Amino acid sequence: MHQSKLFNLTRWRLTSCYVGVMGIILTLCGAAFYGMMAQAHWHALHRELESVAGTLHDGLEPNLREPGQIEARVQQIVPGLCWVGSSCPNQPAQRHILGTVQQAGYYARFLTRSGQLIATIGQQPEHLIFVNDNELWQTLQDHNGQRYHHISLLLTTANHQPWGYMQVGRSLKEFDHHLSTTRWLLLAALTITMLLVTVASWGLAGVAMEPVYQSYRQIQQFTADVAHELRTPLAATKATIESALEIAPLTTAEAHSTLQTIERQSNRLIQLVQDLLLLSRMDLQVLPLKRQAVKLNSLIADVVDEFEALAIAANLQLHTEIVSHQPVTVLGDEEQIYRLVANLVTNAIQYTPKGGKVTIRLHREERQALIQVQDTGIGIPEQEQLWIFDRFYRVNSDRSRQTGGAGLGLAIARAITQTLCGSLEVHSEVGKGSIFTLHLPLELV
Ligand code: ADP
Repeated sequence: MHQSKLFNLTRWRLTSCYVGVMGIILTLCGAAFYGMMAQAHWHALHRELESVAGTLHDGLEPNLREPGQIEARVQQIVPGLCWVGSSCPNQPAQRHILGTVQQAGYYARFLTRSGQLIATIGQQPEHLIFVNDNELWQTLQDHNGQRYHHISLLLTTANHQPWGYMQVGRSLKEFDHHLSTTRWLLLAALTITMLLVTVASWGLAGVAMEPVYQSYRQIQQFTADVAHELRTPLAATKATIESALEIAPLTTAEAHSTLQTIERQSNRLIQLVQDLLLLSRMDLQVLPLKRQAVKLNSLIADVVDEFEALAIAANLQLHTEIVSHQPVTVLGDEEQIYRLVANLVTNAIQYTPKGGKVTIRLHREERQALIQVQDTGIGIPEQEQLWIFDRFYRVNSDRSRQTGGAGLGLAIARAITQTLCGSLEVHSEVGKGSIFTLHLPLELV
């Protein structure tokens, strides 16, 4: 796959798609997690400020007499109150609700109704850019860019006159720091995850494309094999015609011999094209599936009748062993089953030297019919037995080209077996012979 530019490009595209989709999903998940976490912290911060401001408000209001005035007893309730213009030393935190306000980062401010600052508690933000727009919640920023968040509540005096405003707030330094740390952690996690996803996607894209690549290679190989097989008879025909054209005029015997050669090569071509057509139709499953009862006993007798002459010509003995006395019947297309057995017998005759023996065995098993074609021929090396059912595969190209066909006989036999839901196996030893065993499901009546 590494050498194919097209497949490498497709693999990269697939990887980019996986990485893109995973990137979008993970970014959305990260953003949702970050948003929910920030929201939860923000709510907690609001609740805290609301609670402190509410307690202060409830404690102060009954003690307020004049609008904009803070009486002495208010100072007893709120120790550490600092008047604007006076210098206030940092007071230690008290162990009550105001303790919160006096912690670092928290503050409370008291303003007249016109927004004039009267007094403060806690650490005041310096140079706060203050906007008095009467909003309940405000987020402000000081000159250093540090943010503060506070709640503004209207205070009324004991006799229900508006007194002024109280603002309770805190610095957002911790909150912002926490969010920024979370952002960085999420970003780092996303980067590492995306790197891992890229490596994994590259591997997975390779695994996913491997079968496609294998099929692609098979198609390439198949096309090359077809071209090669077609070239041989065509070249032979062309050479015959050319030499006939050179000898002018041809005698009747020469013309006859030339035409015979052309006919032989044409038959070879026709046979090859027919075999290819049959295979591709079986692949596409466009052949009408005939399911007729086929009696194997008579089918084998027909095969023996047809090949007897060929066996005698090759100086071979052709035997049949019908082990079953009952008729052995299977369901399928008789023509195809005949072709399947005939292909096995042809091979057995072709690859068995003179004086050898070819046996066709028929046996009825419990649920299956067994047909064996055994020969005492040259045999097939063990490492080749895996490939002989592949299209155009020949154990020894030169030898098979002399004796056999294009290497499609066993491929067709296997394809027919598959359409019949059977199995075809080979057992062979070099120099001793081969046994092809065919199992077909019986027709059960
Ligand atoms: P071919 O048309 O070349 O015979 P097949 O597909 O029928 O092609 O067989 C594939 C190859 O398997 C043959 O080229 C041959 O080398 C080997 N083969 C098949 N049957 C036998 C057999 N009975 N004995 C030895 N070799 C065989």
